[in-house]
Amino acid sequence: MAKDGIVILKQGRETPIQQYHPWVFSGAIDTTRTHTDEIEPGSIVDIRDYRGGFLGRGYFNPQSAIRVRVLSRDQTDAIGPAWWRIRLAQSIARREALARNSDVTAYRLVNAESDGLPGLIVDRYRDYLVIQALTLGIDVVKDILVKALADLVNPAGIYERSDVDVRSKEGIPETTGVLWGETPPEHIIISERGMQYPVDVFTGHKTGFYLDQRDSRGWLLTYPDLAGRDVLNCFSYSGAFSACAAKNGARSVVNVDSSESALELARETLGLNAVSPVEQEYVNADVFDQLREYRDEERDFDLIILDPPKFAHSKSQVEAAARGYKDINWLAFQLLRPGGLLMTFSCSGQVDADLFQKIVFGASVDAQAQAQIIHWLAQPSDHPVLLGFPESRYLKGLVCQVAGL
Ligand code: SAH
Repeated sequence: MAKDGIVILKQGRETPIQQYHPWVFSGAIDTTRTHTDEIEPGSIVDIRDYRGGFLGRGYFNPQSAIRVRVLSRDQTDAIGPAWWRIRLAQSIARREALARNSDVTAYRLVNAESDGLPGLIVDRYRDYLVIQALTLGIDVVKDILVKALADLVNPAGIYERSDVDVRSKEGIPETTGVLWGETPPEHIIISERGMQYPVDVFTGHKTGFYLDQRDSRGWLLTYPDLAGRDVLNCFSYSGAFSACAAKNGARSVVNVDSSESALELARETLGLNAVSPVEQEYVNADVFDQLREYRDEERDFDLIILDPPKFAHSKSQVEAAARGYKDINWLAFQLLRPGGLLMTFSCSGQVDADLFQKIVFGASVDAQAQAQIIHWLAQPSDHPVLLGFPESRYLKGLVCQVAGL
């Protein structure tokens, strides 16, 4: 076996690693003392401070701006099949309470960096697992991971959805396919708090479903004042929020999405949850245009949900993203009836919670709507945020109530 490579950091660059941040950027490495061209891409390296002191061990990729992702800070850890299996088992064990709840059959088993397994996502949909390998370091141990997961979880099948563009930053192509066991059915029907949702793991978003909105769905299911309400669900995807609102008594739900296949899934979701007396509309349109149309028609709603895709993919896009968030929130505030609710989200990691709240505030002022925040929403416990890696907090939601008559 080849000897592990050694990566030496510049003086002063050890602090983030000592404080549990999982990334070593290219600029932190002392290239005069690190023989990067001798290190096998994807292999395990030791990270040392400028004096040669051991900081941690991780996997290396010379093609990525994130040169090393830290796996362990324990010098006695040998990163091999047994180590990977233990890490997976620990991550799975942290979800035991969720797993015991027979009313939730889909959840995230491994949340990458925040579970000590950088670059790896594992989601469970009933008896199938879907994995996403975001990095070269994970790609090279995929067989080990699949074997361990099959053994630890005993699923019917393991499917890979590594068709994510971040892989290009790692110099690796996108890939999908069955890795183990059976091919999943076209739609896996998962259940969650008495609701059922169809999940398309082959072409659905993320690994098939927005598992990260579980707590927001729970909020909608239990909010005590939805009976008889008219709901506008923007960026509806598979209609999960609409189904929850309908289940909780809403009179009508309008789903707006620019994808026809998403709207088809939404029809299936509403159908599965026996909420047929509810008036349903499925609108294939751009939300920015549709909200303007409703404003011009003077149509109004009691609850408007805004859960757009990520607007900011990098720091340089934050300003444009802020304008986008402000625009849709400004329009939504104008469409709310007195006392109405706005449930608004941002999943852009680059737009932090403070900034997002300021944007929503600005939108309310421009719309001449005074509003209260009545609830804060965030990613659920199976999408943890490492304290030393605040970048992993990406999902922020506010429920605002505009002033009544
Ligand atoms: N709220 C959903 C997830 C939303 S994902 C849930 O909980 O499941 C974002 C959705 O917005 C996707 O379905 C995508 O097709 C849609 N979308 C993206 N840009 C859009 C736009 N400009 N107008 C309308 N829909 C858009």
